[in-house]
Amino acid sequence: MGYKFLNLASSLRVGGFRIATRQYATAHDADIVVIGSGPGGYVAAIKAAQLGMKVVSVEKEPSLGGTCLNVGCIPSKALLHNSHLYHQAKHDFKNRGINISDISFDFKKMMDYKANAVKGLTGGIAMLFQKNKVQLVRGVGTIVAPNKVEVKGENGVETVNTKNILIATGSEVTPFPGVTFDEKQIITSTGALALTEVPKKMLVIGAGVIGLELGSVYQRLGADVTAIEFLNSIGGVGIDGEVGKTLQKVLSKQGMNFKLGTKVLGVRKEGSIVKVDVEAAKGGNKETLECDVVLISIGRRPYTKDLGLDKVGIALDDRGRVPVNDKFQTTVPGIYAIGDVIHGPMLAHKAEDEGIVCVEGIKGLPVHFNYDAIPSVIYTSPEVGWVGKSEEDLKKEGKAYKVGKFPFLANSRAKTNGETDGFVKVLSDKATDVILGTHIIGPGAGELVNEAVLAQEYGAAAEDVARVCHAHPLPIRLPSMVTTGRTPPRGG
Ligand SMILES: Cc1cc2nc3c(=O)[nH]c(=O)nc-3n(C[C@H](O)[C@H](O)[C@H](O)COP(=O)(O)OP(=O)(O)OC[C@H]3O[C@@H](n4cnc5c(N)ncnc54)[C@H](O)[C@@H]3O)c2cc1C
Repeated sequence: MGYKFLNLASSLRVGGFRIATRQYATAHDADIVVIGSGPGGYVAAIKAAQLGMKVVSVEKEPSLGGTCLNVGCIPSKALLHNSHLYHQAKHDFKNRGINISDISFDFKKMMDYKANAVKGLTGGIAMLFQKNKVQLVRGVGTIVAPNKVEVKGENGVETVNTKNILIATGSEVTPFPGVTFDEKQIITSTGALALTEVPKKMLVIGAGVIGLELGSVYQRLGADVTAIEFLNSIGGVGIDGEVGKTLQKVLSKQGMNFKLGTKVLGVRKEGSIVKVDVEAAKGGNKETLECDVVLISIGRRPYTKDLGLDKVGIALDDRGRVPVNDKFQTTVPGIYAIGDVIHGPMLAHKAEDEGIVCVEGIKGLPVHFNYDAIPSVIYTSPEVGWVGKSEEDLKKEGKAYKVGKFPFLANSRAKTNGETDGFVKVLSDKATDVILGTHIIGPGAGELVNEAVLAQEYGAAAEDVARVCHAHPLPIRLPSMVTTGRTPPRGG
């Protein structure tokens, strides 16, 4: 990279010992400094390097990969997968003629497995940085001028001058007013990924994606789980109402309890018990619920602490996000932002794709990002996957649409595998048949939805997809649910 680090201070006296310290200044010339190494930042950094830029990545945590790899997507999916295998072995194998006695689980080993998955993947990013010649500077990055980033690390302060800055600082857990997390009994999603034992009774405040996924993990491992939700529906923002209702039914059948339309007034610890005061969202009778562990998963908010945005004149919007235009440029030339810290859904693949097109734009390539074609997945069992508009969205917009719906119950592969809960619903424009949204609840929904994303990105009509030949027997054929009136439904 041609970086020269100048050693400014060389020693410090601590408790009678002289220890070596270093303070850096750089004789720099970075083309871009990427602050944050989550899926947005690390992908952007590598892409920028591949496009020939001199790249510096700044990360304040010891492990690369951000929320997604360390305390988000990856560890939660490891626990979801293994708790599902356990649950299936215990409750379902015998129906399939597989007899195993004494099925049990070793929670510590399950957690170690998760930790190893995280370690392998975060280590992989360090290797990719090396391979692509991305210079990593560890410490908290602060923008001190439009072309200057100061990094405060263990060894002092380092200054990097740069042509461009990309803010990819992600998000953090939204706090619950008046509640202090101890991450043992009153926990965030981060605490839920690091418990040392399965709670007997767990309350989950917020029945959105994260609450449902992590609630499922502990419910499968034997906890008595109740999800409390202010709204009268589950699944979070963007889920189709019919899909949300079906998911609630299926999860209830599996043993998860729901308290919808319920407002949490406070959370407190009394001895070893956690008490949660609630009342009906509309007002009414108050009630106190008890548990061993309460997971508070009411959402995430953009993270801009220590970034120094005020110093360079970048004002946040009313939701604490960094405002950007359609090229991901902030109001200050040369400073860009992507991922959870800007508008749009807080999803890893959205952050990654924004990172790529943003740095391509810096190199003068076209910038195009279609926010209508970002898939969402809930990795419960069954999975839920959707892209585009829900029926509720379309009704609100007054758009004339057609609905094609097909149940997994009538699909040969799903029936054979005994995974018949759920359906696929395709919404298309009434006049043109162009697909507006696809909503799937059922086996493999997380994979299947990607065909719908591709179709939607290409502006396909429902009939276009219906006429594509699909392998048989699939978990379900997307085209079979499309009621264009031109193609017969095909279930198998
Ligand atoms: C439990 C959980 C499960 C999830 N599951 C999924 C899933 O299945 N699929 C999905 O798509 N999304 C999932 N998400 C969301 C996903 O993790 C985020 O959308 C994604 O990580 C956002 O990427 P990002 O790069 O914008 O930010 P982040 O991943 O948050 O990374 C930001 C990075 O910036 C660093 N940073 C911040 N400020 C500074 C600074 N000043 N100096 C230096 N470094 C700084 C942080 O330390 C961090 O490493 C999940 C989230 C959680 C919490």
